[in-house]
Amino acid sequence: MVFNTRMFNNSLKRNIRKCFNNHVLCKLELEPSQKVVVSNENCLFTQMPQDILIGSGLIIPKKHRENVFELSEDDWADTFDLVKKVKAYLDENHQPNGYNLA
Ligand SMILES: [Zn+2]
Repeated sequence: MVFNTRMFNNSLKRNIRKCFNNHVLCKLELEPSQKVVVSNENCLFTQMPQDILIGSGLIIPKKHRENVFELSEDDWADTFDLVKKVKAYLDENHQPNGYNLA
């Protein structure tokens, strides 16, 4: 399922912590080419048009986090859950030769 930015923002209004910065990962509307492709309760996978790394994207928490050490246990669990869901999505849509997680 592909979500547009408006659908994403509406789904977040109930649980997002206020972000007082202009983080493009907290305010997806700042980068309109960025699309939410797969999500779960606490995380989402976004993609932007890519010329070389076709299918690449970011798994990010829905709530503002300054750095990885602020991730909650639920964030970590949902990151791992989303890794598996994104792999299934990419296997189906891009058939990559392999994966790099960083
Ligand atoms: Zn933020």
